[in-house]
Amino acid sequence: MLILMALFELGYVSFAYFMYAHLESISIIEQGLSLILFLGSIFVFVVNCLSLTSLRELDEIAKQAKYNAEHDFLTDLENRQRCIDAINERKLRQVDFSVILVDLNNFKQINDAKGHFFGDKLLVALANKMRAALLPRSQLYRMGGDEFIIIMDVSDANCIYSQNNALLSELRSGIEIEDLELDVTYSAGASLWTKQRQLGVFDLLKQADIAMYSAKHSRQSIVIFDEELHEGVEAEFQLLTNLKTALARGELTLYYQPIVCTQSGDIYGVEALLRWPQADGTVIMPDKFITLAERNNLIKQLSAFVINRVFQDLVILLEVHSSLEVHINLSCQDFVEQNLISTLAMLLDTHQIDPKHVVFELTESTVMQEVEKARSLIETLIEMGFSVSIDDFGTGFSSFSILKELPISQIKIDGSFVSLSHESEKDQAIVETSMFLARKLNCSIVAEGVESDACLQYLSRLGCPYIQGFQICEPLSLSECIKWMNSRLMVKGAMKRLDGR
Ligand SMILES: [Mg+2]
Repeated sequence: MLILMALFELGYVSFAYFMYAHLESISIIEQGLSLILFLGSIFVFVVNCLSLTSLRELDEIAKQAKYNAEHDFLTDLENRQRCIDAINERKLRQVDFSVILVDLNNFKQINDAKGHFFGDKLLVALANKMRAALLPRSQLYRMGGDEFIIIMDVSDANCIYSQNNALLSELRSGIEIEDLELDVTYSAGASLWTKQRQLGVFDLLKQADIAMYSAKHSRQSIVIFDEELHEGVEAEFQLLTNLKTALARGELTLYYQPIVCTQSGDIYGVEALLRWPQADGTVIMPDKFITLAERNNLIKQLSAFVINRVFQDLVILLEVHSSLEVHINLSCQDFVEQNLISTLAMLLDTHQIDPKHVVFELTESTVMQEVEKARSLIETLIEMGFSVSIDDFGTGFSSFSILKELPISQIKIDGSFVSLSHESEKDQAIVETSMFLARKLNCSIVAEGVESDACLQYLSRLGCPYIQGFQICEPLSLSECIKWMNSRLMVKGAMKRLDGR
């Protein structure tokens, strides 16, 4: 282009020079014409220069637009689309490769606590650390949020572990943001593409995702996808789908396990326990589906079902035993449920129930996950007239601080310490110390997991006020529980009458 313009201008200048050299022999009109042509040449030159600059600018803009479309603006890494393209390119070339999906742990909590601006700085710092940790045949992409992908031009497990070790050692020193030292951990999942195992982009990414979730749940830094993992995930997915359906159809049910006074054998209360009856007559116990529900944001619906059903059943139960207390288990996710308190207020009003009949059980581990939220929930529940009990007491790492920090009124000593406490000195030490502590702090005590008469006798001698377990009664359906309470009350009544004679 420039050469063409130069030739063009040279032509004009030569013509003007020719005219100038023959100035005497040409007419005034010819002189005027040559001047116009010369000025015209300057005009064309200026226009051409301007056009060239505009073209260059347009070219720059187009290049920038292409770069922006392929890169993440925050970390300047190549983005999701480039990652997909890169996978497709490798598939076309039929070369083996692997994909590692890296997801930051607790990023949401950091974002919530410190703000999005801080979260962005963390992502930039993390991206830089990851860049520095890349092995020669690895490429890094940002998928969005706190998810990154590393594509490795190898499909060998050892190489994947080497890449993971490089990442771990780069992050070992932590990340400093705004004078704050952060311990950054991640969960990663890897999936392999080989000529024998040709997968589509989305299947490959889905498998990396499955492996990443498995890493997150098993608290490993990386898991490589395999079929066994897939089957586990499929089974879990099926269970989750069935659970949602069962919940929607009202197929879940509540059982009630009695809690009695150790000395008198009088009924003190019942603990509501969730059960999932199956078409074949078997029953799925909550330990098989509560964690799953927690992981998939279904726990709020489950808790809502339990709370609603307990209030309905409580009206019937109180007719049999007017001073009964019903225990309801709450999950950590219930702490953040805004509607919980208003739902409870509405239920108290609808069923005209005194809140003193309801005790909420929170496990140590759930309380410790969200101490401040737990404290605020516990305080509100107590203000409303409910009681709060700490479940599985002794199994967490912070039993003492919970007793010190939170306004709880009861502890339930975990069955794992209680069931053999009559013969194990170590269990006795834990049970007796827990009771001593609870008494000093004005908390009442329930010993769970009482499974033998010897254990019952031991707890009775120890002065443990309340007991619960198979030795007293297994969990019962509502109608069975009513029968059990009626027969127990009848026997108690008859014995009192006999004593009175
Ligand atoms: Mg419980």
